[in-house]
Amino acid sequence: MSHRNRQPIALISLHADPAAEVVKQDVGGQNVYVRNVGEVLAKLGWQVDMFTRKANHNEPTIVQHSPDCRTIRLSAGPEKFIPKNDLLEYLPEFLEAFLKFQSKEGTNYPLVHTNYWLSGWVGLQLQELRNIQLIHTHHSLGIVKYQAAGYQPPIAETRLAIEKQVLEQANCVVATSPQEQEALRKLVSEIGEIQVISSGTDISNFRLLSKTEARLKLGFDQSENIVLYVGRFDRRKGVETLLQACGNCQAKSQGNFRLVITGGEDPHSESDREEEKIKLLAQELELTENILFTGRLDHDILPFYYAAADVCVVPSYYEPFGLVAIEAMACGTPVVASNVGGLKFTVIPEETGLLVPPHDIDAFSVAIDRILTDDVWARKMRKQASLRVRQNFSWAYVAGQLSDLYRCLLARSIMNEQLWHLHLPTRWSSNVPELEVSAV
Ligand code: UDP
Repeated sequence: MSHRNRQPIALISLHADPAAEVVKQDVGGQNVYVRNVGEVLAKLGWQVDMFTRKANHNEPTIVQHSPDCRTIRLSAGPEKFIPKNDLLEYLPEFLEAFLKFQSKEGTNYPLVHTNYWLSGWVGLQLQELRNIQLIHTHHSLGIVKYQAAGYQPPIAETRLAIEKQVLEQANCVVATSPQEQEALRKLVSEIGEIQVISSGTDISNFRLLSKTEARLKLGFDQSENIVLYVGRFDRRKGVETLLQACGNCQAKSQGNFRLVITGGEDPHSESDREEEKIKLLAQELELTENILFTGRLDHDILPFYYAAADVCVVPSYYEPFGLVAIEAMACGTPVVASNVGGLKFTVIPEETGLLVPPHDIDAFSVAIDRILTDDVWARKMRKQASLRVRQNFSWAYVAGQLSDLYRCLLARSIMNEQLWHLHLPTRWSSNVPELEVSAV
């Protein structure tokens, strides 16, 4: 395979394998983001290598997604699942494996885009060793997460220090919402360049579908009020708030009510206990008969679940971006979400759904009831929600903005020193010379 005319770039997603199947346990937004961004960047002309840690010795070392986009699984630590918080000790091994791979292939990556603080550490070391442009997406910010959780695990100090260093030293940090940008500035550091480029979704998959047909396909009752939750079973996702809210819903007391819970347990983390807790609470609230647990579902079938639902609820206590909200909106399903993080950016209150304070059981019940009982308004929101996603959150749009940013940074790096002190243009593609070496 010849990449002579393409500019190679490396995306590093150490703990979240971009080639992992979405149905697998503990696969979340970061895997989806890196894979989709990587694939579109390749279509835009880059040669994209996505690096992750090999977490299963039976899986291939290299997965080719398209001729110019692949996932490379590097050996660092035992080739088995290791929880995120235990990966720190394997970072130097990952760095070494990355450098070895690079020299074996004779490839030089002038631009490295790291994802999450673990990969960020690797990026910082590469920046010391090589002349690279370092771009970083946090996906989740320690300081915000710990504030929401009300406690700090032992790893917290290291994580917070690395997140600060990455913000101050990377050539650019990508915030996926203005809310994240604000948190980075206020809570992490005043130093460092930040650009807002949102996350996205596959709008050819998550699209407007007929509710009637979706229900027929899934065998759901046409007359039922259906509330949907999609996500990992993790305490911070707020499933308990949702259960309690559903217990109070008028729609529930009038019968004809179903809560569909889609998501997976993860035997390696606390998630399995979370599922147990959720099921116990459902029993206590006498909701068991109203709940359908589907388990983890693939993206092929998920659009039908979104389309079949009257409302999708995202009750997270903390949500850096929240892909589920835009997937649901893309399928025309109004969203009731917590008024936190990226959800404040994606969900437009009264137009594409409703925002309510996290943990506020009554506010969730009222919001869910409002949507379930106003069909005309719900239909209007359906159109507005799907339009919002098509216009602002397609992967083509997101990766196009990243591509412009990369070009600008690479161009800037080869320009005269003085340009470092100029402010970057808000529209990246303007004023930026094409790179001679690149087909982009
Ligand atoms: N997801 C899925 N099947 C499931 C549950 C979740 O494919 O059964 C996907 C979901 O469609 C979304 C991602 O997992 O793309 C979750 O991303 P989000 O940003 O909402 O949350 P995270 O898991 O990153 O905290």
